Amino acid sequence: MSSIDYDKTFDATLVKKDQITHDTYLFGFQSEVDIQLEPAEHFQILMKDSDGIDINRNYTPILSQKRYFEVPIKIYPSGSLTPILEKLSINSKLQMQRKIGKLAYLGANKFIIAPKINKQFQVFKTMLMICGGTGITPAFSIIKHVCQNKDPLQMHLLYANKTSKDILLKDQLSKFQNECSNLKVTYILDKEPGYNGLQGYVTLDVLKQVFPSPNNDMIGTFCGPTAMNKIVAELYKNYNIQTVVKF
Ligand SMILES: Cc1cc2nc3c(=O)[nH]c(=O)nc-3n(C[C@H](O)[C@H](O)[C@H](O)COP(=O)(O)OP(=O)(O)OC[C@H]3O[C@@H](n4cnc5c(N)ncnc54)[C@H](O)[C@@H]3O)c2cc1C
Repeated sequence: MSSIDYDKTFDATLVKKDQITHDTYLFGFQSEVDIQLEPAEHFQILMKDSDGIDINRNYTPILSQKRYFEVPIKIYPSGSLTPILEKLSINSKLQMQRKIGKLAYLGANKFIIAPKINKQFQVFKTMLMICGGTGITPAFSIIKHVCQNKDPLQMHLLYANKTSKDILLKDQLSKFQNECSNLKVTYILDKEPGYNGLQGYVTLDVLKQVFPSPNNDMIGTFCGPTAMNKIVAELYKNYNIQTVVKF
């Protein structure tokens, strides 16, 4: 288990800031305490704006080692925190907190839903994931864990973006797909005319096309922009997935 408790504050130093798409950077942080996070866990950056008002935002690492972690962060030019992060120089120190999420993956197909209030795990054979943009990060950390540990979990990822330039972690996802026969990745783009894969928004027909038939051994997960999340929650219901969790 990780050594730092949930909601405990720690300091982390920015040691890497690489632009990976037109609007997203991969940030690498070094911490003075052991902060190794479990798959799909996130941390919060604690900051104040120029008026002293808290701007705390959550981020899910795609690499988490004892004292080092990396996270892709999309910059919103009119956002409160991310324009500040974009301007940060290497060696800047930030205050953070480890947070408990809505879903914990324990390995070997075991999940805990709402781990804050529940300690009982459930076993699923298949995990469906519908992600939009930076919402890929929690799904990615589970995919990585499953592939590296050869867990028998069947994984179906439907990854929605505006254009192919917005797709994050494509090379790593392709590598996992090649190495891990239980992972199937489908991309869908809504603003790239001429794209020869799926086009448009995620609909019930798309779910029927890319996911296996629903059964009780499946967990449906999702993470994306608010508008997409509302639609996807409804789509899972119409697709008859009994257990559905938003990361
Ligand atoms: C559990 C969790 C994990 C996350 N993991 C990641 C991650 O790994 N990587 C990542 O990049 N992000 C992640 N996020 C999102 C992240 O926490 C921030 O929401 C994001 O970085 C935007 O922060 P911001 O302060 O820059 O923008 P905000 O100030 O929150 O604004 C975001 C956008 O919304 C617009 N906006 C703000 N307020 C309004 C309003 N009232 N009406 C209309 N539009 C408005 C802004 O103009 C901007 O375009 C995660 C979120 C959660 C909940």
